Parts: sequence; structure tokens; C-alpha cells
Amino acid sequence: MLDAKTVKEYAKRLGADIVGIASMDRFEGAPPQMDPRFIMPKAKSMIVMGFRVMRGSLRGIEEGTFFSNYSAMGYGGITYLYMPITVINLCKIIEDEGFEAIPIGHQSDWRAIDNVGKLRNNYSKPVEPGKPSPDIMIHLRIAGFVAGLGEIGYSKMFLTPEFGPRQRLGVILTELELEPDPIYNGPQLCNRCMACVRDCPGQCIPADKTVKVTVAGHDLEWADVDMDKCNLYFRGGMETAEGETGSYFEGQTNVKPSPYSPFYKKPRNLYNTGQAVCGARGCTRACMVSLESRGVLKNKFESPFRTKKPWLVDWTDYQPVAETADPVAGTDPAKQERLKEARKEPD
Ligand code: SF4
Ligand code: SF4
Repeated sequence: MLDAKTVKEYAKRLGADIVGIASMDRFEGAPPQMDPRFIMPKAKSMIVMGFRVMRGSLRGIEEGTFFSNYSAMGYGGITYLYMPITVINLCKIIEDEGFEAIPIGHQSDWRAIDNVGKLRNNYSKPVEPGKPSPDIMIHLRIAGFVAGLGEIGYSKMFLTPEFGPRQRLGVILTELELEPDPIYNGPQLCNRCMACVRDCPGQCIPADKTVKVTVAGHDLEWADVDMDKCNLYFRGGMETAEGETGSYFEGQTNVKPSPYSPFYKKPRNLYNTGQAVCGARGCTRACMVSLESRGVLKNKFESPFRTKKPWLVDWTDYQPVAETADPVAGTDPAKQERLKEARKEPD
């Protein structure tokens, strides 16, 4: 019979860095659109795994010379490749014992709610009365919290004592009953240093506007992050000034590169969603620098991450760039259309 200890050992052997377990009653009071019990009504446990983002994957952006690695290996690749394999393989072990298990990676692309929790217009409807609209979105940071892996920082990033903000979370819902972990009560990680607020390229993390929720009897508070602004700035763009024309996003004339992007046009997504040109400058890099300097993280390094003032690109000479023939599709309109569809940005 699988117990919590054995499941955690398997998870780590399969590739997870950290593992915690939550009982489902910790979701009592969750909004139905975010309540995993609607996905698996007979679920007894949620296994939450953390997959570290290598500090090295942030190095190229910190230096300003190699941006794709974070979006590929520290973001999209973990989410869409590495994590699913680990999560699926652990589910196989659990189902071999006769307990249903749902492998849920980091992704929730089909969710019915938008980034601020509102139902998306004309998107989906409940299949029958009493059920939420598909897809439910599991709030991964809350999952990490109820599984005892760490805290939700002021930036809204999930912070663990091992890696600070440097991980992605994957989840398994299962009918297997496992002993839950206590809610995290180790050394305080977020000390409200506000480095995330200061360093966010778009000032998307307000210093004075927060969200408060009660989860499993604990009052949590984090910044009311402006997700629309983040959506623009994390991809390296910024709005053009009046009378200016931009070409940073294909087909849009009101966005130009921000001083946090060296690219004339946003590079294409890697592994579906990887397009984090800002390299999580505030919510991950500044936070990590702060946590490391306080010595609160277990994953220690011989040398400090940051050794010089962060760079800014001088775009005073900026001119919009004309659309060029796609290097893959060439001039074939049918091929161009197919590629356009395949490369559509997720909203
Ligand atoms: S991803 Fe970038 S733009 Fe978005 S909150 Fe983090 S630092 Fe700010
Ligand atoms: S940068 Fe400071 S305030 Fe922001 S989440 Fe990290 S520890 Fe908290």
C-alpha cells in the first residue's frame, strides 16, 4: 500500500525537487471555478510537486545576452515537457495500486476564468446545473500553500524555503488517501522587502493594493498584481506614446520594445507559452536576490547572482520594423495561414 513517504520518494526519484500533500478539506470555501473537488469528487489527496527553475536559466537574461533559455528551459520546457512526464509517471504508480489519479501539470490553458478570476465571455457553460464552467482552474500557488510547500509572497509568487520564487508547480489529484503535510510554518520567507515592486518593469505589482483571502483557516495577503500590464511587460513590450508607431507585437501598432527587451519584435513562443522576455525581473530575480542576501534559502550558491547594476536598453533610436516574409512560410499564403493559426498566442 502506498503511503505518503513512499509517494514522495517516488516523486523525487521521477524528477520532482520538492513534494507536499494536502487533504481535500483544505479547499473548503474555495470558489467553485477553482475548487479541485469539482474535478474529482472522490479525491482524498492532492500531491503537489515543485520543479526548480535553474538559477542558471536566469543567467543569460541577467547578463542581457541569452534570453531564450529561461523561456525554454526555465518555463515552457518545464511546464510542457519535464513536469508532465514526472506527473504522469507518478500517476501510473498510483493507478497500478487501484486508485484513480489525475496528472495535472502547470498548464490551465482551457480555463473558464481569465487572469483576474472573471468568467470569460462566451467561452463555456456548465454541463449541468450545480457545476462550474469548464475548465476549472486550480490555483497552483494555493495548492502549494495547502500542501505545506511554502508561502505566497507579496508578489503573488509562490516562495519555498528551498528555491524562493524559482519553481513551477505540478499537481496530482487522487482517490488515494495520504497523510497531509502541515501548512508551512518554517522561517518567514517574504519579509515585505518590496524588491519585487521596485524592479518590476511595468510597475505591475502595486505597493498599496492587495488581495486578501482565507485559505485553510489562514489569512493570506498578496499584491493585487495588474495582470494586463504584466502580460505586456513580461513579453518585453510597452505602449507607444501618442503619435508613435510600434511593431513589437505582430499586427499591432501601439506596442514598442520596452527598455527591458533587446528585441525589435517579440520573439516567438517557446514550448507554447515561453515568452518571458522580462526574465521575471521583479517577481523572481529581484526577489531571489533579496532572499539569497538574507540567507533564508536552502539552495545555496558559491557566488552571488547579481554582481552589477541591471541593464536597460536604450531605445531612443527606435523605428518600427516592417513586416518581413516569414522564414518558414515564405510567400505561400496557405502555408502562412496555417503557421499563423499554429502560432496563435494563448489569451
Ligand atoms: S513577470 Fe515581469 S512584468 Fe510581470 S510581474 Fe513579474 S517582473 Fe513584473
Ligand atoms: S521581493 Fe520581497 S516583498 Fe516581494 S515577494 Fe520577494 S520577499 Fe516578498
